[in-house]
Amino acid sequence: MGLLIRVVYLSEVNIASGDLLPQLRAIHDVSTHHNREADISGVLLFSHRFFVQLLEGPRLRVTETLGRILADHRHDNIRLCLAREVHARMFRSWSMRLVNGDPNFRLNDTQRTFDPSLATADEIMEMIERGCVPDGQGRTLVAAG
Ligand code: FAD
Repeated sequence: MGLLIRVVYLSEVNIASGDLLPQLRAIHDVSTHHNREADISGVLLFSHRFFVQLLEGPRLRVTETLGRILADHRHDNIRLCLAREVHARMFRSWSMRLVNGDPNFRLNDTQRTFDPSLATADEIMEMIERGCVPDGQGRTLVAAG
């Protein structure tokens, strides 16, 4: 197996609210196809305001994919939070997950909604581990979609 990398970014949703569902579906469909072909796994978290995405896979493939994502006008103010080589994946496949109202994706008890804009990379990784990979052993993504 070649070198694997993991990247995490956060961004702000730039989709009119009436258009949100069809656009999210379009992102889901194209990403499922491309990511499977490129051997990329991970998760895309979204609320009505923010995306947080973790991508992992061969570094050339992840970089190519990130290039397309960065140029996509359906989000803006994209901030890279983490990019590192890894020895093993956290996720076996790629999926999307709505995190509105999920307490696992709040930074602290006073935060009412999902707002990762001030979170550190460690805090974002903790949210992902807490909300997406609860068993910590099999690294199985629970409640995807
Ligand atoms: P095409 O589908 O031919 O698109 C050409 C251009 O139009 C691109 O700039 C594209 O960004 C834009 N575009 C495409 N469809 C629409 C649409 N329905 N409405 C408005 N603009 C559109 N792709 C992946 O492969 N893997 C991912 O993990 C992934 N995650 C994403 C996460 C987010 C938050 C967003 C916003 C997009 C994501 N995408 C992902 C989609 C990615 O940005 C590309 O649209 C997609 O990979 C197809 O690229 P393409 O070069 O084949 O172009």
